[in-house]
Amino acid sequence: MTLTGKILWGMGAGLVLGALIKWIGQTDLFPPGFFQIIDTYLVSGLFLLVGKIFIASLKLLVVPLVFVSLVCGAGSLGDSSKLGSIGLKTIGLYLLTTATAIMLAVLVANLVDPGVGINMAEGGSFVAKESPPFINVLINIFPSNPIRAMAEGNMLQVIVFAILLGVAVARSGEPGARIIQFFTDFNEVIMTLVTMLMRLAPYGVFCLMVQLFAKQGIGVIGDLALYFFTVIFVLLLHGFGTYAILLKFVGRLSPIDFYRKMRATMLFAFSTASSNATIPVTLRTVEYRLGVKNSIASFTVPLGATINMDGTAIMQGVATVFIAQAFNIDISLTGYLMVIVTATLASIGTAGVPGVGLITLAMVLQQVGLPVEGIALIIGVDRLLDMVRTAVNVTGDSTVSCLVAKSEGEFYHDIFDDCDAGEVVSEHS
Ligand code: ASP
Repeated sequence: MTLTGKILWGMGAGLVLGALIKWIGQTDLFPPGFFQIIDTYLVSGLFLLVGKIFIASLKLLVVPLVFVSLVCGAGSLGDSSKLGSIGLKTIGLYLLTTATAIMLAVLVANLVDPGVGINMAEGGSFVAKESPPFINVLINIFPSNPIRAMAEGNMLQVIVFAILLGVAVARSGEPGARIIQFFTDFNEVIMTLVTMLMRLAPYGVFCLMVQLFAKQGIGVIGDLALYFFTVIFVLLLHGFGTYAILLKFVGRLSPIDFYRKMRATMLFAFSTASSNATIPVTLRTVEYRLGVKNSIASFTVPLGATINMDGTAIMQGVATVFIAQAFNIDISLTGYLMVIVTATLASIGTAGVPGVGLITLAMVLQQVGLPVEGIALIIGVDRLLDMVRTAVNVTGDSTVSCLVAKSEGEFYHDIFDDCDAGEVVSEHS
């Protein structure tokens, strides 16, 4: 069985067991202490432990992998004008896809009207956390201390440092060549570690799913069904529509092959709800399965996981329309333009970790004068949506990586065309 198949099994089994545990907690068919024991020793014990270790083992690779891989990438490009063109194309495409995502979200939400009929005169209680001013986001890109940047996992700063170092390495002649050789070898070793840890995924995913569904049943969707399914619909539309069109007509690549190779990565993103923790897996897939050269992928993937959040922007677009309708507030056409601009910026400022999209939503709501307490309305279903939107975020990063690589001639067609290239096979299957 392939790794994807095993992860799917883990996911399904986790969902069923989680739902069963939740049911045990609600029924009185069992002795009173029974649920308590399961909850303490399994859900908040063993499954919590394995789930947390699984996520930590992915996260532990993020900083070393991004740093080493990007020094190799920038070092092998050498030419800083090429670096500039890659940077511009990547950021341009990231902005374009995000803006398209919100436009789709606002359009569909206005057709479906998910918030009409929910009367929110009484108001909820939600205290918004301060989201950082955008100017700080820009200032913070430049590290004053690279070690601190790495220790804090500040991805943009690590990216800037690695690029500078890579460019310097490329210009340093003989000593630079020695350094690049070392980093290339190091990169290979870390990738082997990524492959090793990916094999643990079915068990990790199983534990994460049990925990989630033991605590949160599908029942939470309840009154929010229309909102929930509108977000899911736009996520699917963008994830399988917009990207497929871009791949087919701009990249001249087969979307079917692309999605087939992306399956495992999407499942990782789905179950961790973190683009950041998924970076090692995304980078491996984009390079070894899709054929993007390291010189492009090492830059586009970590940058995308940090600033490109199409799925998050979609949730924010639909949520804005939903909250406006629930509070009976009209948003004008200029209001919607503001939503598109701020949600694009908000998604840049959203870190690739679980749940942050909901915090930066406050920024979008405030911008168009909507009550931030509205977030209380949708918080119940956000965890489930977070999982799906993270999968879209990561798919967006991978799509753009392929497009940039193709246009720069840094793409291995033979890898893309080979269905088995880079497939992780279980050691004992
Ligand atoms: N969890 C998302 C991600 O990591 C961010 C968010 O929308 O909250 O991509």
